Formats: sequence, C-alpha cells, structure tokens
Amino acid sequence: MNAFALTEDQIAIRDMAQDFAAETLAPHAARWDEEKHFPVEEMRAAAALGMGGIYIQEDVGGSGLTRLDAALIFEALSTGCPTVAAYISIHNMCAWMIDRYGDGEQRQRFLPKLCTMEHLASYCLTEPGAGSDAAALKTKAVLDGDHYVLDGQKQFISGAGVSDVYVVMARTGEPGPSGISTIVVEKDTPGLSFGANEKKMGWNAQPTRAVIFENCRVPVANRLGPEGIGFKIAMAGLDGGRLNIGACSIGGAQGALDKALAYAKERKAFGSPIADFQAMQFKLADMATELEAARTFLWRAAAALDAKTPDATKLCAMAKRVATDTGFEVANDALQIHGGYGYLADYGIEKIVRDLRVHQILEGTNEVMRMIVARGLVGRAKGN
Ligand SMILES: Cc1cc2nc3c(=O)[nH]c(=O)nc-3n(C[C@H](O)[C@H](O)[C@H](O)COP(=O)(O)OP(=O)(O)OC[C@H]3O[C@@H](n4cnc5c(N)ncnc54)[C@H](O)[C@@H]3O)c2cc1C
Repeated sequence: MNAFALTEDQIAIRDMAQDFAAETLAPHAARWDEEKHFPVEEMRAAAALGMGGIYIQEDVGGSGLTRLDAALIFEALSTGCPTVAAYISIHNMCAWMIDRYGDGEQRQRFLPKLCTMEHLASYCLTEPGAGSDAAALKTKAVLDGDHYVLDGQKQFISGAGVSDVYVVMARTGEPGPSGISTIVVEKDTPGLSFGANEKKMGWNAQPTRAVIFENCRVPVANRLGPEGIGFKIAMAGLDGGRLNIGACSIGGAQGALDKALAYAKERKAFGSPIADFQAMQFKLADMATELEAARTFLWRAAAALDAKTPDATKLCAMAKRVATDTGFEVANDALQIHGGYGYLADYGIEKIVRDLRVHQILEGTNEVMRMIVARGLVGRAKGN
C-alpha cells in the first residue's frame, strides 16, 4: 500500500473476507448471540480461506500476510459478526506469539493445527487481582524437574473451555514484569479446569471463563523463549491484537452505519424521509468522517508495526483507543437514528452496540492506552 490506496491483492483479500462475513456470519449472528453459540465450524471455514493464521509464516500453514492485511480482514469479518471476528483475532494473536517466540519444535507441534483452527487458542494474562496492572500477576509456575507446576487463576479468558491451547503468562521468578514467563498449556492437562461461562452484556457468541490451575504439571518444553521474557511476549502480542480489535470496532460500526443509512432513507417523519433533514445528514456525514479517520489511522499504525518502527507500540495504542471509541460512538449513533426500533433486537443494531462496548475495555482499557501514550510524552505517572 502507498499511503493512500490499497493494492489489488489487498482489495481481493478484503473482498474475500467481506463475502465470507456476508454469507457465513451475518445471517446467523443474531441467533448465535441469543443462543450463546460459539460457531467453531464456521471459524474453521474461515481458516480454510487463510484467516486462522493470517500473519503466521507459511512453512507451518500460515498465510504469511501483513498486519495491514489483517486489519482489512478483521474489519470485513466484523461487518458480519464483531464477536466471532474478535475471537478469530485473539486466536491469531496467540498463534503469532508461538510463531515469533517458539522454537522449531514448538512451531511444528502447535501451529499447523492452529492455522486450520482444528485447534483453537486462548490468551491468558488477566487475573482476578491483576487486570490493567498485568505485571502484578500471581499465577505461579514452579520448576520441578522437566516440568513446571502451575497454580493460580486467570480471569475473563476468551474461548476458555473450548480452546485446545492456552498461552499462559505465569510467574517463574521475582515480582514485576521480569519474573514472568510464557507457557503453553494444552487442554487435557491434569490440574487445568474452567469456571462457568460468564453472563455478559455482549460478545455472547464466544465463551468467557476463568482458567484455573491446581498443581498443573506442564513440560518445560512448552515454555516460549527463555524464562523472564513472558511479559515482553504478552505485550508484543497485544500490539497486533489491539490493531485487530480496533479493526473489529471499525467493521462493526461500518455495518451499523450502513444499516442507519438505509433506514434513514426509508423511515418517514414530518412528511419526508428522515435522511432529508439536514441535522440527520450532518450526523451521518460526521459518522462516516469519524470512521474514515479512525480507519486511516489504524492502517498507519498497522504499517508501522509491519515496518517495526520504534513508535509502533505507541501508534498501536493510539489507534486502538481511537478506533474502539469511534466504533462505539458510531454504532450508538446508528442506534439513535433507528429511534425505538434501534432498541429492538430484530434490527441488529443493539447487538453491535453491546458487542463493541467491550473493545474499549479489553486488550488494555482505553485508559491504559492513554498511559502508554503519555509515558512517551511525560514519563511514567505516579504509581504506574
Ligand atoms: C468479555 C471479556 C473478554 C476478555 N478476554 C480476555 C482474554 O481473552 N484474555 C485476557 O487475558 N484478558 C481478557 N479480558 C480481560 C481484560 O483485558 C481486562 O478486563 C482489562 O484489561 C481490564 O482489567 P480489569 O477488568 O481488572 O480492570 P481494572 O484494571 O481493575 O481497571 C478498572 C478501571 O480502572 C482503570 N484504571 C486502572 N489503572 C488505571 C490507571 N493507572 N490510571 C487510570 N485508570 C486506571 C481502568 O481503565 C478501568 O476503567 C477480557 C475481558 C472481558 C470483559
């Protein structure tokens, strides 16, 4: 991509994901939300099109694409269902952590089945007592011969209970970030169990559970990289994860804007379509403009991550904040344009608003995004 236009390949990738979203996700999204159904078969169909390992290297079955390509894909998938798109984005983030930091044996062992989504992955950082302050995590991994023994609990883990592979940040050393390591825990490991599926405002088409470790023995051979770099791995994963979540917000909001436009042209009040009122036209113009600004900025951050520029982490944090705040605001405005009907489940708008709300909270809250940006401007705030 030059700064202003997608290449033919990128347009083809985006169109492929858009068609998949329209045909395979959108028709079922409302039912999956209502029934709390996690559509594993449909996700495997997405993986068959290369979306299970988007920026994973090709020798293990990945698609070898860029972060910008991924942003295009997640925006497109999210027009069909933000929740399913967002889970696929977390899965891709975990696979990338193994691809980037795993050794040859680990890459061959885990990645081919992750790229096809025969196996699903979950990212396990948050704990009941450590969310924004993730480096305070307490889950222990104590060395015992050629195994680690894990004890502790992870909270709010997307895909938990269904996923086959858990990428876990655990404490192997001193307090703080440098005492953390990343260990891959496989589903049927004795001592691994799950909490109940949380009842949530949105994101109902994917499960969220606690992940519990009790005397859970995991081979040392499952540790990614050396001891003590787990926090670095977790944060590196999140740079891309934040772009993907931002892209999911933009896609969901674009879907809501498209619905609002169609509705405004059709719905009559005071003798004319509501789209004829200038106040409505200005609202729609602002929604389209804000969304385009967020999209363009997200692409810039994705290009920076692809180029590994020194400011990539900061740009990813900025873009996540802008894209998820804008996405939520635009979706909420689209609900308002639908009047009372927007509040009814049948119109498909309230689900988008519910789904996008959590993007302002997870993968680092939008306050944490401001902390990351502010650190580069004025240094660390007191207590951070
Ligand atoms: C549906 C869902 C799915 C999730 N999936 C996953 C997952 O798959 N894996 C995973 O590891 N985690 C996951 N999370 C967890 C998510 O990342 C955390 O909820 C998030 O990081 C915030 O942590 P917390 O909930 O503990 O809030 P807290 O950290 O307790 O924050 C509470 C409030 O205080 C603010 N705050 C905290 N510190 C500061 C500060 N220094 N300055 C200003 N404000 C501050 C926060 O922004 C927030 O508004 C998920 C969460 C949800 C709801």
